[in-house]
Amino acid sequence: MGYKITVIPGDGIGPEIVREAVKVLDAAGEKYGFRLDYTEVLMGGASIDVHGVPLTDEVIAQAKASDAVLMGSIGGDAATSPWYQLEPSKRPEAGLLKIRKELNLFANLRPAYLYSELKAACPLRSDIIGGGFDMMIMRELTGGLYFGERCTTEENGVRKAKDTLTYDENEIRRIAKRGFDIARKRRKKVTSVDKANVLDSSRLWRAVVEDVAKDYPDVELEHMLVDNCAMQLVRDPKQFDVILTENMFGDILSDEASMVTGSIGMLSSASLNETKFGLYEPSHGSAPDIAGKDLANPIATILSAAMMLRFSLDLDKAADAIEAAVKQVLTEGYRTGDIYSEGCKKVGTVEMGSLIAERV
Ligand code: NAD
Repeated sequence: MGYKITVIPGDGIGPEIVREAVKVLDAAGEKYGFRLDYTEVLMGGASIDVHGVPLTDEVIAQAKASDAVLMGSIGGDAATSPWYQLEPSKRPEAGLLKIRKELNLFANLRPAYLYSELKAACPLRSDIIGGGFDMMIMRELTGGLYFGERCTTEENGVRKAKDTLTYDENEIRRIAKRGFDIARKRRKKVTSVDKANVLDSSRLWRAVVEDVAKDYPDVELEHMLVDNCAMQLVRDPKQFDVILTENMFGDILSDEASMVTGSIGMLSSASLNETKFGLYEPSHGSAPDIAGKDLANPIATILSAAMMLRFSLDLDKAADAIEAAVKQVLTEGYRTGDIYSEGCKKVGTVEMGSLIAERV
């Protein structure tokens, strides 16, 4: 079976890490009998250099016509790159916001998983880590405070700024369904995070989530206030399976959750719309400081590619095989520089990709 994949290598380490992810995908395709047809397109700084804009209409059309999008990362060093001399709407990151909006990617998934082999990198005490943790943050991505009306005014010489947080029940229902669907593929627990003791939007959030939960009697639902959740993430991260939350809370909590794993080069992410379509990219940025030096850890992108197989193409077995291959390579002691510790075997980007591909 064949699938159309739009590939956005992007900037900085993007092209290097995407190349390794494609290598691993092809190894999985050979073993599990599927074919991926890739179309490479420009976005971010790479697109600015050629087209003068970070995202062209042709790229949007190409992405829409495909089954999924695999992306590296975009952006450069803001202090030195000429891309950041441009007005904000023409800078690399504007392309990212635009493609998310154009593709209606309202559901953002960020797993935070602690590999037992990398426990030393976790900033939490070993008695808190226990046997490790494995959670998925499901963040609403196209509504709430970041998309509400905002303004700054001045009254009687006093400056005043206003942002608005709005959700309608349809926006909440569609992300909640996604959260419960994902939980069904995992340990069947949803923690819905809100601030229902204060915010009306959170009270509606809670009511709609409870409504959706009725269709998922096999999935346990609990509610947690966001301030408590921030605390619980460092007190006992093992308790979480799927954390379901709105845009701003998810922005903050997903960064907190990724920090407690201690290894940014390992963390994948997916952004999904109403259909099976999604955009898959590592959680980290374009790391211009190490670009082109064979130093980047490709694992976050390789795990994002595995998510693409699982969520957009329903190729669960191939996704499992890639995840198992990553684990095996770590167990065998191979490390890129960012996760290296004494006694391990240090490898570069290309070798890490090859080692994983061989073990799929
Ligand atoms: P960054 O994530 O690129 O880098 C932070 C630190 O982590 C750096 O020291 C970097 O070398 C290291 N690092 C990141 N990924 C790594 C990997 N795979 N292997 C080894 N080390 C890795 O964050 P930043 O430096 O703040 O941002 C750099 C650029 O990336 C900026 O232009 C920023 O806007 C952009 N950015 C893009 C995305 C995206 O494309 N979605 C996300 C975040 C940041």
